[in-house]
Amino acid sequence: MLNIVLFGPPGAGKGTQAVKLAEKYNLVHLSTGDIFRANIKNGTELGILAKSYMDKGHLVPDEVTIRMLESEVNKRPDAKGFIFDGFPRTIAQAEALDRFLTGRNLDINITLALEVNEEELTRRIILRGKESGRADDQNENIVRNRVKEYNSKTAPLKEFYKKQGKLKEVNGIGTIDEIFRQLCRQINANIT
Ligand code: AMP
Repeated sequence: MLNIVLFGPPGAGKGTQAVKLAEKYNLVHLSTGDIFRANIKNGTELGILAKSYMDKGHLVPDEVTIRMLESEVNKRPDAKGFIFDGFPRTIAQAEALDRFLTGRNLDINITLALEVNEEELTRRIILRGKESGRADDQNENIVRNRVKEYNSKTAPLKEFYKKQGKLKEVNGIGTIDEIFRQLCRQINANIT
């Protein structure tokens, strides 16, 4: 089984690359952001709760997010592996994921971090907001809060995975295909 964490700030291109990697390596793509948005669209209780945080640019509480992620993994017993996109976003989530996978004799094989500077991130988010209509990409205050949440709660995960010897950094600026090739190179070089 190949389990990949795709890591990076909002606007780094995680979603785009996760779809391509899932196809190439035959993995189930789990994006917590996409799952929350689907729940919002369907008006579920989880969606209503998640929306109250997402609308402010805050992270959804760990307990809710972890439970949801574990339930999504459990729905796919036949998966050849997973690509986690936008999860974990806190140390508590990363520890919960490790515990959850260990309990199934599984492991994260590699954490790929997309590196993009803040100026480029802002430019991409604004463009994505215009193209997709995503509310949290169109409001400057929300975007600023998301970046704040990333810097304070998510960025420390780099050290977490570095200590485990799993972190591989990839330049997230370039064409989609160039970045994809770099990600594949890291996977192929580090997974036996
Ligand atoms: P994304 O589509 O990954 O940019 O996520 C959009 C929003 O969903 C984030 O700004 C958070 O409010 C929420 N979200 C997504 N993934 C997580 C997570 N792992 N933990 C907490 N909140 C999350």
